[in-house]
Amino acid sequence: MHYEKLVETYEKLESTSKRLDKTHYVSELLKSTTDDMEEITLLLQGKVFPSYDERKIGMASKLVLKALNIATGTDADQIMKSWKKTGDLGNSAAELIKEKSQKTLFQTNLSVSKVFTNIQKVALIEGQGTVDKKLKLIAELLTSAKPLEAKYIIRTVLEDLRVGVGDGTLRDAITLAFLDIPETIFSKCPRCQKLMPKIASCLYCTEDLPKIKESGEDRVKYNLLLEAVQNAYDMTNDFGQVATIAKTKGLSGLQNIQLSPETPIKVMLYQKAKGWEDAFERVGTPAAVEYKYDGFRVQAHGKDGNVKLFTRRLEEVTKQFPEVINWIKQDIQSNDFIIDGEIIGISKQGKFLPFQNISQRIKRKHEIEKMVKDLPVVVRWFDLMELEGKNYLKEPYSERRNALAGIIKENDNFKAAEQIITDDIATGVTFYEESIAKGNEGVMVKKLDAPYKPGSRVGYGVKIKSTMDPLDLVIVGAEWGKGKRSEWLSSFILACQDENGNMLEMGRVGTGIKEKAEEGTSFGELTKLLEPLILSEENKVVKVKPKIVLSIEYEEIQRSPSYSAGYALRFPRLKEIRIDKPVSEISTLHEVEDLYEEQ
Ligand code: ATP
Repeated sequence: MHYEKLVETYEKLESTSKRLDKTHYVSELLKSTTDDMEEITLLLQGKVFPSYDERKIGMASKLVLKALNIATGTDADQIMKSWKKTGDLGNSAAELIKEKSQKTLFQTNLSVSKVFTNIQKVALIEGQGTVDKKLKLIAELLTSAKPLEAKYIIRTVLEDLRVGVGDGTLRDAITLAFLDIPETIFSKCPRCQKLMPKIASCLYCTEDLPKIKESGEDRVKYNLLLEAVQNAYDMTNDFGQVATIAKTKGLSGLQNIQLSPETPIKVMLYQKAKGWEDAFERVGTPAAVEYKYDGFRVQAHGKDGNVKLFTRRLEEVTKQFPEVINWIKQDIQSNDFIIDGEIIGISKQGKFLPFQNISQRIKRKHEIEKMVKDLPVVVRWFDLMELEGKNYLKEPYSERRNALAGIIKENDNFKAAEQIITDDIATGVTFYEESIAKGNEGVMVKKLDAPYKPGSRVGYGVKIKSTMDPLDLVIVGAEWGKGKRSEWLSSFILACQDENGNMLEMGRVGTGIKEKAEEGTSFGELTKLLEPLILSEENKVVKVKPKIVLSIEYEEIQRSPSYSAGYALRFPRLKEIRIDKPVSEISTLHEVEDLYEEQ
């Protein structure tokens, strides 16, 4: 496909904030996509790697500026000026290319795959001369780009596409494009015959669309189709694959997708219970009650003696945990499995340690053996998704846990999560106290007959924790410090998310962050993490790409009209950086509202 065609869709997407319109535009594009489905579905979300692939494009604004300078011949100062004016390097790129093309008129047709490949190469290049090679790749694209193409190339390179296509829109668009949509759910334009979601008028010829009464039965059918696409995505994490299967094999193709021990799947998440009665009411009795370990979630995949570990962000951490790989090879009695559990730090005295103590092991790429000795861990497994070619997602939890127990040779370092089955609150409370005494966070209470729902925070299990839960918020901006702190970003603007993944600001944090690196998370460390993410700067306040998730403790949640969330935190304080948590899983406005009500 010509990149220009994708750009036309980007422009339409940018012109509307309505999710239904977006769904329609994406579905039209997917329908006309033939062999580059993989690239198109990723680029629509501004990505060149699937979400489980930890590689990032990682090109700072400064380098992009240079690439623009090479491609257009415009000097750096002038580009800076334009950037300051538009506040968006993409728009500046479009302006500059427009000026240049009026002079030269030289342009070739860019293809989607050329743009995709060059941007992906930027992320992959390593070693000597990296910077020059990266510049060349981007400048090559910009030289052939038309103004609007340049705008989106730059935004993609900066990992800041902003056309508002989330997972939900892609899922709905695939359903609309390729599955048999029940008649009363959508409208067909009487004039141009295009099928679109129920909106007032046609997106093309502005003809009024007929008002059709939705049938309840059709709604149920439609929801089943959506669920089939969502399930297929949760298992593959790959919209390209899902769209291709939906297009070529339809609903039955989607329903027959198998789990593959090569590809990580999204983990199931849990909700929070208000107390024991609430917990039992939500999961039913008897229930499985387990220690809630304060480590990090790990998913292990084994196939023919090959073992891989993934975090809940679906990042591969196999190399970082050689001891865990050895234990799995020795003590899991199977050659084909996907299991779910927690890696936890442990003290010399055998007590569980909080997550912060071992968080540095996740990113560590060198001196791994030293880490293994200095920061020892143990593993507790609690679920099983696949075994010997059989998909266990639809099996009840009790079955999955039995199958899990059947393949683990247990020892102190490596076993199934401590569990009791009970319907008695007093027994639960005693177990909870025992869990806390051992250094854990609390307990999980799980529904015995529930399936495994990848990627969802469903109530198939709930947590009961001792302390007020911190909020997990993402940094969306920061302010440069004053005086001796002027080298550092020192006040960090935090955001939660609404149900469409939009960032909503809810105040700033500066407390709990240290001046010296030895004392914990420092201003220097945060500044280093945020600098490459800076999008714009005005009066010492920078806007950054939302990437860095912080766990924030606070005294109270207050209503506040000054922030887009409508709430602010009283006495916010940094607890830790949540490197294991993706931005898509930060606290939601809904959770904030619930906590506010509960206070
Ligand atoms: P928290 O910040 O409390 O860990 P969360 O948002 O990270 O919450 P939740 O799904 O709410 O995640 O809580 C469950 C998390 O607790 C899991 O992701 C997992 O990492 C951890 N955990 C520890 N022990 C268990 C267990 N026995 N069963 C399931 N999850 C467990």
